[in-house]
Amino acid sequence: MDIKDHIRGIADFPKPGILFYDISTLLAHADAWQVAMGRLAHAVRKYQPDILAGIESRGFLVAAPLALKLGCGFVMLRKRGKLPGKTIRHEYSLEYGSDIIEIQEDAIQPGQRVVVLDDLLATGGTMAAGVELLRQVGAEVTGAATLIELNFLSGRRKLEALDVPVTSLAAYD
Ligand code: 5GP
Repeated sequence: MDIKDHIRGIADFPKPGILFYDISTLLAHADAWQVAMGRLAHAVRKYQPDILAGIESRGFLVAAPLALKLGCGFVMLRKRGKLPGKTIRHEYSLEYGSDIIEIQEDAIQPGQRVVVLDDLLATGGTMAAGVELLRQVGAEVTGAATLIELNFLSGRRKLEALDVPVTSLAAYD
């Protein structure tokens, strides 16, 4: 089964000139989603995680079912102001301006092995921010994984520079 057969490219979203890879069709197809989760579980198991961290919001859709499958805990990395209680934040640069992601201060025990997940790796800025934030709270980040990788944006290099190995199921040139 080719995962790509279940991913739609939608032109000019969210702005003119951008081709958006839509995973709605993959999520809606029970068999294809089952296969995708099985393959990701196989790859992510090698990183021997205690916890999977999902990046808001589509990263949650990937990380939460995978955590159940692997018998790991699941934690949320969220946009600013969404998490209750004490949080730790990490600010990172975007093409224009900056953004902030947060984690609850006690979400990770120091030294726990964490794999960070999202739906898609583009420039790698979001994933790299997730890695930095997790390290701030004492996690040992053993890997990163996504459903989709856009090779031409070289996000993989950004993660490899942080010494984090990356797995993706479907790569586009
Ligand atoms: P990066 O920070 O690697 O440049 O961008 C990755 C982030 O943007 C991910 O959180 C991902 O959800 C979102 N993203 C960017 N482009 C796309 C796309 O074409 N499809 C989907 N599903 N997400 C995208």
